[in-house]
Amino acid sequence: RVVIDVNDLKKKYSAWSIRGRNVVEALRGASLQVHAGEVFGLLGPNGAGKTTLIKILLGVIRSSSGSASLFGAPAGSIAARMRVGYLPESLRVDRHHSARSALRYYARMSQMSGAEINRRSDELLELVGLRGRDRESVRQFSKGMYQRLGLAQALMHDPDLLVLDEPTDGLDPVGRNEVRKVIDRLRESGKTIFLNSHILQEVELICSRVAIMSHGKICVAGRIDELTQFD
Ligand code: ADP
Ligand code: ADP
Repeated sequence: RVVIDVNDLKKKYSAWSIRGRNVVEALRGASLQVHAGEVFGLLGPNGAGKTTLIKILLGVIRSSSGSASLFGAPAGSIAARMRVGYLPESLRVDRHHSARSALRYYARMSQMSGAEINRRSDELLELVGLRGRDRESVRQFSKGMYQRLGLAQALMHDPDLLVLDEPTDGLDPVGRNEVRKVIDRLRESGKTIFLNSHILQEVELICSRVAIMSHGKICVAGRIDELTQFD
């Protein structure tokens, strides 16, 4: 079953500078497919177009041409958005909140009842290993704890697909390990995960399949062991 289907996707940005109009081709015909249950890693240097691709998948911006769909629905449509959870590169949480109140605040935008929000929060705080710390101010949290709270938030509406923007970037080894453990648990529970990173070693540890992006295109995609055999 194909969860993410991207075909010949192009995106041009125009920016104005003192020299006049400047067109940047961030995506130049990117194509990729991600299947249900995969942990898929998008690798590439800064400027390759990874963030642009993620923004199109989430429906934050529109492509210039080509197609992108999630679960067979166009990226950005309500049907697609309802099934995606997103972990931004850096989570904004009011530092007076606790982990629990941050989740409750976030879930208020959904149709969930108070009881449902509490039940769901318990379950997710347990999953991300914050159950014992859920009532203290997030001000005390390490970056790794913030990331795990972000994962809980992204899971609140029980999406089938999670899009994670550099989930372990800037974490110490302990923090990275804990975030990886949560990602493993999510994979075991059947979620499809799409993440981007500029660190090969991270992607090797977490992902079942990888695509390498460069200058707005996917150069290669495959299983890590396939991509690292050179004989
Ligand atoms: P990555 O996430 O791989 O670092 P991006 O998608 O952020 O790559 O950027 C791809 C290219 O598009 C870069 O050259 C970047 O400078 C350019 N770009 C990204 N966003 C904008 C924007 N809003 N306006 C103009 N150029 C942009
Ligand atoms: P202050 O304004 O007193 O610095 P902040 O709430 O900005 O308080 O930050 C408190 C701590 O929480 C800082 O150590 C910071 O690293 C961390 N922090 C705040 N926001 C984020 C975030 N979005 N992602 C990760 N860590 C954060």
